[in-house]
Amino acid sequence: KKYVYLFEEGNAKMRDLLGGKGANLAEMTKIGLPVPPGVIITTEACKDFTAAGQKFPEGMEDQVREKIAVLENKLGRKFGAQTSPLLVSVRSGAPVSMPGMMDTVLNLGLNDQTVEALISESGNERFALDCYRRFINMFGDVVMGVEHSKFERVLDRQKEKAQVRYDNQLSAAEWREVIADYKKMIRRETGKTFPQDPLEQLFMAIYAVFNSWNNDRAAVYRRINKIPDDLGTAVNIQAMVFGNMGDNSGTGVAFTRNPSTGEKELYGEYLINAQGEDVVAGIRTPQPIASLAREMPEIFKQFKELCGQLEKHYRDMQDIEFTIERGKLWMLQTRNGKRGVQAAIKVAVDMVNEGLITKEEAVLRVEPGQLDHLLHRRIDPDAKLDIIARGLPASPGAASGKVVFDADLAERLGQEGKKLILVRTETTPDDIHGILNAQGILTSRGGMTSHAAVVARGMGKPCVSGCEALQIDYEHEEFRIGNLVVKQGDIISIDGSTGNVILGTVPMIDPELSPEFQKLLEWADQIRSLGVRANADTPQDAAKAREFGAAGIGLTRTEHMFMAQDRLPIVQEMILAASLRERQAALDKLLPVQQGDFYGILQAMDGFPVTIRLLDPPLHEFLPNSEELTVEITRLRLSGGDPAVIKAKEDLLRKVRSLSEFNPMLGHRGCRLGITFPEVYAMQARAIFRAAAQLVKEGFNPVPEVEIPLVIDIKELALLRELVVKVAGEVAGETGVNFHYTVGTMIEIPRAALLADEVAQEADFFSFGTNDLTQTTLGFSRDDAEGKFLRAYLDQKILSDNPFVVLDQKGVGKLMKMAVQLGRQTRPGLLVGICGEHGGEPSSIGFCHAIGIDFVSCSPFRVPIARLAAAQARV
Ligand code: ADP
Ligand code: MG
Ligand code: MG
Repeated sequence: KKYVYLFEEGNAKMRDLLGGKGANLAEMTKIGLPVPPGVIITTEACKDFTAAGQKFPEGMEDQVREKIAVLENKLGRKFGAQTSPLLVSVRSGAPVSMPGMMDTVLNLGLNDQTVEALISESGNERFALDCYRRFINMFGDVVMGVEHSKFERVLDRQKEKAQVRYDNQLSAAEWREVIADYKKMIRRETGKTFPQDPLEQLFMAIYAVFNSWNNDRAAVYRRINKIPDDLGTAVNIQAMVFGNMGDNSGTGVAFTRNPSTGEKELYGEYLINAQGEDVVAGIRTPQPIASLAREMPEIFKQFKELCGQLEKHYRDMQDIEFTIERGKLWMLQTRNGKRGVQAAIKVAVDMVNEGLITKEEAVLRVEPGQLDHLLHRRIDPDAKLDIIARGLPASPGAASGKVVFDADLAERLGQEGKKLILVRTETTPDDIHGILNAQGILTSRGGMTSHAAVVARGMGKPCVSGCEALQIDYEHEEFRIGNLVVKQGDIISIDGSTGNVILGTVPMIDPELSPEFQKLLEWADQIRSLGVRANADTPQDAAKAREFGAAGIGLTRTEHMFMAQDRLPIVQEMILAASLRERQAALDKLLPVQQGDFYGILQAMDGFPVTIRLLDPPLHEFLPNSEELTVEITRLRLSGGDPAVIKAKEDLLRKVRSLSEFNPMLGHRGCRLGITFPEVYAMQARAIFRAAAQLVKEGFNPVPEVEIPLVIDIKELALLRELVVKVAGEVAGETGVNFHYTVGTMIEIPRAALLADEVAQEADFFSFGTNDLTQTTLGFSRDDAEGKFLRAYLDQKILSDNPFVVLDQKGVGKLMKMAVQLGRQTRPGLLVGICGEHGGEPSSIGFCHAIGIDFVSCSPFRVPIARLAAAQARV
């Protein structure tokens, strides 16, 4: 098997085999960019290594030696040589980018001899020693497992002794002491000597990279980002170039466009006289790339050209690492840049306008789930803010929450539903679980390309980084800004678009869609065939939905109208009625109120269909709680209350008790109410039709779709349909208006899906109520599952996702697919929709498209997400 490739043997298409970093280094080499030469060990080797129980596969080591020899010849350098020693970096690189998840070792090949060679070659003793101490530190940490902080402690002690503040103030002699101390410390910690043979160093490093594929950090990152565990990582071995050779050297990272806003401008940071990790690690705060134009105009010009070339070549925004060694520019990495959602949209739309990509590609460039971020509220620009500090605007959006300094604590509180801002000096991959559970991130150090910033943008969370005014004191769980002290648990707000840190909560305003966003959605609408409606219960929600591009309402829940404060007493009167006459009297009072509700919604959705579901929940939901009633009665009795009042309360209690059910979810609800109390459904139908007739008279075009919930059999539907049709006839007669309507059913019990061919005889449309269909198909009650056992099911991989969030395509989806087929067998062209929460979840939307559903319906704020996901399903 060929396990090792030279850069010039690969290309960008070989990502699976060579990893993302390797494939792109190969591609850049191929198109003639200045890349230090190197070799790549394949992901295949990593997989075989893991399969063989952490052993290098047969022949791999020989191939590595062979290719290193090629590298040596090319460069005229040799591993371990007394003059011109070869130094390399050993870099991991998986097929999917996992920033900061796996560790890189720089300056490998240095030992007590070669460091002297490097000194005479460079004529710069401090530089060579700086490389060596970095190498021992990285190798000791990544390969030999000695904590980084132990190295820091050695260094701090030396600085104290020398009475200096910064690393670069240490003399060569002092660096030599640090190096000796490092080696001693490693010996003490591991019982092993620091390896002096470069090839031994190399193989140890390769071993460590392969192993790191399975470390906790990497595993957590893969789990969060749903990256398969069996991809393996490649290893890149690349000749070193040095950014730490003096003031004509440096290192940096840059995006070809602004990853927060998408603006077409170079965006990045660099540090003069520094090596690799220094920029991203947030050790010194770096300089913005723009100042490179002043400091090294020639280099800047060349770099800008190469960036343009790379963008054209990859047809996407690039995230680039570079190093300048004594006035020469080297490219060390390129990849498609991670970006915030605002930037993703702008870049995609701009690139279509620049002729770089097609509309279809543009639509695929934005992850629908990310849009959520833009569809939420942001700080009211007119609000008076108590701004206490300003950092870098690292990831847009605003958030308020309690200050928390610890990732573990953030996870705990976050899961209790607390709103949090995670505050750290800087974040590391070990903080991921805390970031995940916080509303926003605030760091006192690190630039816009720091770990916190990159991760936050990826997750669509606001982040303010490099807020240097912040003095964090972990021990006392507080931070200070001047005289101001903010304690853990105090509330602050951050604005990741401006970098502002604000004391307390802030007023927020509704989002608006940017012109680019509108454009992208317009393209999505041209591409998609799946319809998108919204679930809305009020005219306000209907208007919002329409503004976001919903073409109709897929679910209006009438019970929400029953819950309103002023109506509840009438609803209770209806439920408690002792006779049909009494009930009818209550219904007569409800009729005009409901008619008003329907009027408003149908008017807001003028010209678009509105599915109105007749009463669905168990009646006791409208009644007081029996325990509270009992307490109240007891209190009245003890305090000698009015006997008439007590008697009334007791009657109520009896009624409440008689209505209580063992399992309300499977009890007296849905169309079972229509079967037992037809007068309730008749009243609702009358309200709908009277509203429709009134609107028609006024010149509107209402399109009501009357929906019967929880059907299990065609006979239920036949009976209730007859009732609805009869009422429609009556209303048409009394008003003399011809209005249009249809009658259909919710499919939310497996039996209805199984008998869909029969049910379709009486249904003008189906709508999958996937919330209940999931409950009834899995036999899970949602409230119990999520609180009690679902977590175990996910941890043990019995289920791959929470079925109430991501549609269970395997089970529930199978029923849906069958019901669509059976229904259309009876009634070709049967209108089918979905109105569960899944209607706004991108992967579920893709499935709905695949099985031929006509439209999805989701909450108004998810409508743009659904439009985009529906387009992606079609591309
Ligand atoms: P990551 O995947 O965490 O970004 P990299 O493998 O890209 O890790 O390396 C980390 C840092 O080391 C980068 O800033 C990169 O520029 C630098 N680096 C890697 N290889 C070399 C090299 N051969 N010469 C100089 N710097 C290097
Ligand atoms: Mg990198
Ligand atoms: Mg239901």
